[in-house]
Amino acid sequence: MSPAILAEIPGPGGPATVTSAPPTVERCTALPANCLITGGAGFIGSHLTDRLEKRGHQVTVLDDLSSGSASNLESAMAGGRVRLVPGSVLDADLVERCVRDVDVCIHLGAVLGVARIVDRPLEALLANVRGADIVMAAAAGAGCRLLFASSSEVYGKQSGEALTEQADCTIGAPSYSRWSYAIAKQFGEALAHAYRKDADAAVTTIRFFNIVGARQSSAYGMVLPRFVAQALADEPVTIYGDGRQSRCFTSVHDAVDAIDGLLGVTNSAAAGTFNVGTSLPVRIEDLAQLVISRTGSRSTIVHVPYTEAYGAGYQELGNRVPDTSALHELTGWKPRRTIEDMVDEVIGSQLQAMVRAPSPARWRRGKSRSTSVLAGGPAEPAWLPGVQPVAAAE
Ligand code: UDP
Repeated sequence: MSPAILAEIPGPGGPATVTSAPPTVERCTALPANCLITGGAGFIGSHLTDRLEKRGHQVTVLDDLSSGSASNLESAMAGGRVRLVPGSVLDADLVERCVRDVDVCIHLGAVLGVARIVDRPLEALLANVRGADIVMAAAAGAGCRLLFASSSEVYGKQSGEALTEQADCTIGAPSYSRWSYAIAKQFGEALAHAYRKDADAAVTTIRFFNIVGARQSSAYGMVLPRFVAQALADEPVTIYGDGRQSRCFTSVHDAVDAIDGLLGVTNSAAAGTFNVGTSLPVRIEDLAQLVISRTGSRSTIVHVPYTEAYGAGYQELGNRVPDTSALHELTGWKPRRTIEDMVDEVIGSQLQAMVRAPSPARWRRGKSRSTSVLAGGPAEPAWLPGVQPVAAAE
């Protein structure tokens, strides 16, 4: 993208939140004025929209609202710089119109969630593969920079510390639906590489490791929002398998910081693939205990066999930890939020959602619980400070 069509964006936060990049790295003299975020009404997308909007960018959100929601953009849209285009990344004409006059596109729109993938592998494969191609072709055609969101799923069964972006990706047989998402994201990464090489496209791939935080839906299997919802309702917390599998959970705010850092360096400096994740693996059994203790829940823990949770033929990922030195050397990025921060944020957001749309049964159970999460202080009987649960009055 020519620097001539980039505008200086004044506003809070400066050019990027991550400023400790080495002086040798080519930094953008100005940040992109017009951004397109596919999947911008979803979990990561809406947090990114919030961030870019606050800094004064014009943001177009393209989202089919299948798993995202316009309500995630409520505060971002109030400022008048964010517009929501309801539509699909599979609509090539619409995508082409959306990338016109855009400086950078961040492609987050995808069908995801293990439960959804194993349930409807065809939908997941086609939507993710075709969507990646349509968005990359449109961005390349318009000369617009593209950040493509991939996933640590591509590593598959790989285990171990410090997996670099060049480490082998070891997935199971394609006939296991579980791997459909990994296959689609691997294809997207290869496509990004090919568009860069053969079409001179400005594509950067970001490999996210288990991003969690407020607004993440529990509908399609994601473990942290599910555990929190179960704990807040004093229902059994369901650990699939033996619970000794681990994930490197990463805060959505650290993920947004990473995108922000990459936007702050030039396309040529950001060529390639970058891992974004914490280096602290958390066992699922430990996560369950942490959620129960921080919600003050009376929940018990139950173990559910994988076959019951996902049907026959499910295969578990390896216990893998990312090497993020490439991103750190380029932008100075480091994850800053702890697992406790992440758990508390999800608890807080689910409590707030309950206040907006209370379920009487949950409300009655929750009223008796002590939690310090929203009060930000020592445990005391505090549901939402200052909020009267009128709708759920007994
Ligand atoms: N999981 C679990 N209980 C649940 C949902 C998920 O024990 O109610 C497990 C799941 O089997 C996996 C881990 O939590 O081992 C992370 O699952 P998630 O779907 O969040 O992420 P992914 O498997 O895609 O990394």
